[in-house]
Amino acid sequence: MTDILVPTALVADPSRFGGTPQGDCLRGTPVVRDNRLVALGRTNGDATQMVIPHLVEPHCHLDKCHTIARLGQVGGDLRTAIERQTKDKANWTEDDLRARTHQGLTEAHANGCRVIRSHVDWGDKAAPPLSWSVLQECAQDAPDLQLAALTGITQWADPTFANAVGATLSASGGVAGAFVLDHDKMQAGLDQIFDVATQRGLMLDFHVDEGLGDFNGLEAIADTALARGFDGPILCGHAVSLMDRTPDAVMRIADKCARANITICTLPITNLYLQGRTDGTPDRRGITRLRELRAAGVKVVVGSDNVADAFCPLGAHDPRAALALACVTAHLDPPLGDWLNTITTDASAALGRTPVTVDGARLSDLLTCAVIHTATLISGRTGLRPATETLT
Ligand SMILES: [Zn+2]
Repeated sequence: MTDILVPTALVADPSRFGGTPQGDCLRGTPVVRDNRLVALGRTNGDATQMVIPHLVEPHCHLDKCHTIARLGQVGGDLRTAIERQTKDKANWTEDDLRARTHQGLTEAHANGCRVIRSHVDWGDKAAPPLSWSVLQECAQDAPDLQLAALTGITQWADPTFANAVGATLSASGGVAGAFVLDHDKMQAGLDQIFDVATQRGLMLDFHVDEGLGDFNGLEAIADTALARGFDGPILCGHAVSLMDRTPDAVMRIADKCARANITICTLPITNLYLQGRTDGTPDRRGITRLRELRAAGVKVVVGSDNVADAFCPLGAHDPRAALALACVTAHLDPPLGDWLNTITTDASAALGRTPVTVDGARLSDLLTCAVIHTATLISGRTGLRPATETLT
């Protein structure tokens, strides 16, 4: 067999795996034993394909996706999007939710995803909404689909709400999620959501500081996690307001996030669409400080967020497209292979899963792509195929 390329960042132990360095990849002939890719042998001819693990979608909204056709000509800022999507909930019947969830999942799987986390709008009451039970049902056919309750952090300040939602999430394997944006009772809500997550062993996932401006939710989450010694996975999406903090404040907050083991999820397509709006063409970038966070030792991951809904009329459940946009927007310079763990291994860990690295992985856990450069891989212009079809 001819050579394959494997991005070095996706290999746990390059010295044992073998292969010859070529840019940000290792190159060699695949050595397959017991249906696992165990090593790279001596090079033999041109490399024609790259091997990676399945992709991970750490943050999307399957309950909202693909509503754009009936929303009309929607656009505007975050507040406008929330109002418009809330009106659309009158259309969220069981059949409607099931069909759109299926469409989103099919799209994500076709784009190489296996593990997927979707948020589900929870609403005003402690009892779960219809969408929660419909998506739970959908998850029975998609065992790698995780569901996170998207509540408001103020709601968690109410002990009755906190206990009831905690019990529901515990019974259904759900993730405790909350929207945090300069809310009343933010600290009281954070204290209770952390207490419930600790008592019930829940993972945490926040939509935090989704706006340019002087918001302090991310630092409050990090302080709360550190004070409690919380050791479960914490994923913080957006963190856009880090753009408006001083360099000293960014360093201070990044250091706390690193120590609290908080992973930051950037969501470029929705944030570029919603944040930094003016009456004219935007001159601000609605994206968190990816480079500074990573340099400070914070794990960062990339998600697709909203797809064809009131928050973003465009988009796709396609991690490579999200990463490509992050590269352009945040000036993530080559070698781009160093950022592939934002949609694979680090994203898995952020969702509480054991990351799959290429070395020693089952062929059924790997994908191949007929490219010879990581930039071409991330560009998405070449499709992904199961390694079981191409490496055997
Ligand atoms: Zn979101």
